[in-house]
Amino acid sequence: MSHSLRFQHILTPRGMERHKRLVVDKQGLITAVEDDAGPHAGPFDGWLALPGMPNAHSHCFQRALVGHGECASGSDSFWSWREAMYGLARDMSPEQLRAVAARAYADMLRGGFTSVAEFHYLHHRVDGSRGPEMAQAVIEAAGEAGIRLVMLPVLYQQGGFDQPASVRQQRFIHQRIDDYLTLLESIGPVPAGIAPHSLRAVSTTALVGLLAGADALLPAGYPKHIHIAEQLREVEECVEATGARPIELLAQAVKLDASWNLVHATHASDAELALMADADVTAVLCPLTEAYLGDGIFSAREYLRLGGRIAIGSDSNVRIDAVEELRLLEYGQRLTLGRRACLATSEGLGIPLWRLAALGGAAAVAQDVGEIRVGAYADLVVLDPAASPLAGLPAANALDGLLTAGSGESISATYVGGRRVVNGRCHQSETEIQAAYASALQELGIS
Ligand SMILES: [Zn+2]
Repeated sequence: MSHSLRFQHILTPRGMERHKRLVVDKQGLITAVEDDAGPHAGPFDGWLALPGMPNAHSHCFQRALVGHGECASGSDSFWSWREAMYGLARDMSPEQLRAVAARAYADMLRGGFTSVAEFHYLHHRVDGSRGPEMAQAVIEAAGEAGIRLVMLPVLYQQGGFDQPASVRQQRFIHQRIDDYLTLLESIGPVPAGIAPHSLRAVSTTALVGLLAGADALLPAGYPKHIHIAEQLREVEECVEATGARPIELLAQAVKLDASWNLVHATHASDAELALMADADVTAVLCPLTEAYLGDGIFSAREYLRLGGRIAIGSDSNVRIDAVEELRLLEYGQRLTLGRRACLATSEGLGIPLWRLAALGGAAAVAQDVGEIRVGAYADLVVLDPAASPLAGLPAANALDGLLTAGSGESISATYVGGRRVVNGRCHQSETEIQAAYASALQELGIS
């Protein structure tokens, strides 16, 4: 049974269009985008609908670290934060993971994201033994929240370049690729891809074996994600261990193409940026987390000038807001380059940037999302014309207002596959999700 959704304005590949009706089939796909008679046909379902933003990089369990780790010790860094994260990962049960993940996913839906690529590495039981429970907990949480999930089980083999894993990493580790492939197979009907954690954690020899194994299990074009060049120390260690910079090394080891997603790539050299753009990979940028962890700023303006594709991710999930990710992406360029409107075009800032990130996100999750068009899923976010940054703005300027002055608070409703999961800023299962999250934090001793 199909149904229709009517909006005063929608952002389609053709631009901002007025008075449109979307027909959505029972699978949640858009089957028609039609002119609408306007207000005389009854009330609209909303003011201005945008394609929902795919979240191209998430570690849902890290949501539980919100509000912790801000104590200056004189040398706090990514690496000391990582120790705090390992402490959390050591103790979390499947039930606790489900509760924390559902909180993160509901917040994503309230913050402009409608699908998520979950870079999942908290695999094994608390005692280190194998079982599918942790992956299943993530899948159940996505179902409860109503977000479109793409699972990216992570292959994590070693603690650093030629270094064994530490005890604190034991829940993440698969020494044998066959064991990892068994996990990948167990994920079942949920769309999946692969995620070698990083070149620190997976050798280039293992990477080749991983691809051969995954090619036999997953449909052609399945997404491949890897953390890369996030920290200067990581780049230095890579050069020391292998003689090459990380992105150069990856390109030597595998054939990069549009199915590859390089997460962060913060410290890519000019030559590596060109290599990435030529290979048609997606740069997955997580500006809020990169700022939170003190990683640095990706050369986004240069990468777009080279024709590169970008997506955004909420990564550590400390702050979950697609609008704020894009604002910080733009403002990072302004602060670095000393000029304004760095990622803008003649259409302004908001429309082209939202569109670029949504399309790049669609490539990163390998799903028919990221555009409002026939054949795509009806994954939508609807802006609230009464939200203070948008009040009085014409639709053509709404996204510039949103990107510079708004946030997820400016979103009134969210749809996934044509089904409304957020209404009036409130997630459909808010009460249950919040109660379970609060008790999980209490059990973990971090409330
Ligand atoms: Zn990450």
